[in-house]
Amino acid sequence: MPQLRVLGGGKEVGSTCLQLDINRHHFLLDCGVDPAETGRAALPDLSGVKIEELDAVFVSHAHLDHTGGIPDLVRRGFAGKVFLTLPTLALVNLLWQDELSIMEREWPKEERLWSSKEMHKVLMKLAVPTTYHEVFKLNSLKVNFHNAGHILGSTMTEFIYNDFRLVFSGDIGTSSNHLRYWRTEDMANPDVLICEGTYGGKNRKGKQEVEREFLENVKMTLEEGGKVLIPMFAVGKTQELLKILKDSWNKLPNVDVYLEGMSIDTLRVYDQFLIYMDDRVRRAFLFNNINPFRWEALRLFRSISERKHLHQRDNPCIIMAPSGMLRGGWSVWHLMKMACDKRNMVAICGHMEDGTTGGELLKGVREFKLTDMINKTTVNVDVQCKVNHFDISAHAMHNELCNFISQMKPGKLVLIHGDEAALKCLAESVKPYAGEIIIPSNGDRIDLGRPAVVEETASEVDVPLTPNTSLILPKDLCLRVRHMGKDRYMKAQDIRSVAKS
Ligand SMILES: [Zn+2]
Ligand SMILES: [Zn+2]
Repeated sequence: MPQLRVLGGGKEVGSTCLQLDINRHHFLLDCGVDPAETGRAALPDLSGVKIEELDAVFVSHAHLDHTGGIPDLVRRGFAGKVFLTLPTLALVNLLWQDELSIMEREWPKEERLWSSKEMHKVLMKLAVPTTYHEVFKLNSLKVNFHNAGHILGSTMTEFIYNDFRLVFSGDIGTSSNHLRYWRTEDMANPDVLICEGTYGGKNRKGKQEVEREFLENVKMTLEEGGKVLIPMFAVGKTQELLKILKDSWNKLPNVDVYLEGMSIDTLRVYDQFLIYMDDRVRRAFLFNNINPFRWEALRLFRSISERKHLHQRDNPCIIMAPSGMLRGGWSVWHLMKMACDKRNMVAICGHMEDGTTGGELLKGVREFKLTDMINKTTVNVDVQCKVNHFDISAHAMHNELCNFISQMKPGKLVLIHGDEAALKCLAESVKPYAGEIIIPSNGDRIDLGRPAVVEETASEVDVPLTPNTSLILPKDLCLRVRHMGKDRYMKAQDIRSVAKS
């Protein structure tokens, strides 16, 4: 019987990590880090997982709460494959490099989660880039990536094992962003849907209203001579906000817009995958060579002295800098420089985890001890500038989540990636559309219903693994074979492909 074990992301938006066991194979769905934690506390609890028996990790999208723990798996002995889309691979490369430099710069040595060695092993050896709707097979399991519309390369992953189907939503996108929106037609009615519920119970104001408020506040701050700091995720949020600013640039004061750190690199990746964006963006690019994220006001910092000089001058400007939750990186440094001037504004856009500086700012905390990333000193910061929150998010809100689940109509619905109140509220709203609803905690094990259909003949035949093995065995008979030190149940016709590898 397929089984699911929740290792992270149960009743929390933490380090998403699920173990899926099907037909004696063991997979992880994502393996992230909790953005509100540092050190090993940021990792999911993998204490009961036999890492060396894991066959593969399936990555839903690049965000660190879904990928930041994968190099740590290698440190623990993981040598399986890591399946992800090509844009996700390109973005993960950037996010991990940035995470590594934050760990090396700001974390004590003994707390660092992994090194460049493990990171490169995943990127260069274990990663298998694939694309949407290119169904691939792992023995008798078929896997299909569907577009999730959350960030570039994000997927909903469909697992098909005989007539059992399971869909893992990853993070679900909203209709109001620059990416193609998700569709459910070709994956509806699964036996099991594992679905995120970050914004269960919450609906944001309409896209236009939020953007109007954001632009009005930016305009007001700039006209008063202030600087605007937008702490943001380098992936997704950067591009969404650049597009909003570019689309309304003729209504704003003509100031410089500075893009910081890794957002510059992620923008280059987005440039290469404009074909993944929504129809309007694609057409503008294909027919008129218009890039939705770049225009003449955009500036890139070239040196530390340039950054320091910017804060010595009294010029209004917009600074867009990671990390998004002010958990480290350039956004924290700029906050330290701007916090004491009441004319300035920190524009917080989207969800902030409790325990991060961004989360504390939203709660009204104004006094912080922050690390100056340039001279490595701890600085007491009293935030006197304006702090405004604009709910610009790449996540589906309550109504969109309900819409998604009501179209999917799963036999079993497993809700994760949200706090308990959010998930309960979502469960209440979607009751009519799911046979059974489960809200697991971390550590819970869930039987996923129907027993596996294929007869797992526990044959003791010791099968020699050669490219011709399948020719001497009856078709469709499942055999236990030993391959690379592991016992596996395989059909004769699948043995040939393994023997070749
Ligand atoms: Zn995400
Ligand atoms: Zn997430």
